[in-house]
Amino acid sequence: MSDTSHTTATAPPALSVTGVSHSFGEKRVLDNVSLDVPRGSFTVLLGLNGAGKSTLFALITRLYDNVSGEIRILGHDVRRAPTLALQRLGVVFQSRTLDTDLTLMQNLRYHAALHGIGAGEARRRCQDALETVALADRAGERVRSLSGGQARRVEIARSLLHRPALLLLDEPTVGLDIGSRESVLSIVRGLVSARGLGVLWATHLIDEIVPTDDIVLLHKGRVLFTGSVPGMLAAAGADDMRQAFRVMTGTNVETEAA
Ligand code: ADP
Ligand code: MG
Repeated sequence: MSDTSHTTATAPPALSVTGVSHSFGEKRVLDNVSLDVPRGSFTVLLGLNGAGKSTLFALITRLYDNVSGEIRILGHDVRRAPTLALQRLGVVFQSRTLDTDLTLMQNLRYHAALHGIGAGEARRRCQDALETVALADRAGERVRSLSGGQARRVEIARSLLHRPALLLLDEPTVGLDIGSRESVLSIVRGLVSARGLGVLWATHLIDEIVPTDDIVLLHKGRVLFTGSVPGMLAAAGADDMRQAFRVMTGTNVETEAA
């Protein structure tokens, strides 16, 4: 087990979750979940629908307050130091959250204002963020004119405006065609390698994993594996990740993932 204390000499990970459980009524949907997202890591939170991925995100973002266990962002406890913890967090939710009647730039400027970023600085950051997702040429268009994948890229741009160190994305490619999916993935992987962001990418799509990713396998509310892709293949004695998933969960990813 890694030491996640903020008193250690080494820099704390972007995210550290220790012994987190959560129940809805009688139903326990997260059971003693522990994981780290180091800085500069693209960490895949892999799990079928119902595994508990979105519930974990709701606890990290403090949508739900009644967390048992500990969650730290850059060493800051989300419960005891919420302002410090959450100001370095960017989130892309599963549902669409842009105003489709506003332009791309208006959506971003609005969000920058919410973060208290002054007008001149906001203009620069919004421009930069749109360039990062290759949509600067569409800045003045209404969001409703965009494809689903382009809208997702705007949400990613928006999540970067306050310069987060940790980015959470909840099934960001669901409903996108292959080309758009690849484009969203490569933009986010680029943020990890170029800026050293820590990314937690929730998905049930095993095809999105590449060999350099870090893996957290969540199944029925329990973490069954954390580590590298080669590590997971070796632990399962499997030739590919689909087989490794089957060995570790006793479930076929193709038939149960909707
Ligand atoms: P995932 O995001 O991996 O698909 P969720 O975190 O959405 O999984 O759901 C985990 C489990 O918790 C599921 O069984 C789901 O039905 C249940 N659940 C999620 N949200 C609620 C809620 N607000 N009330 C009751 N049960 C919930
Ligand atoms: Mg979900």
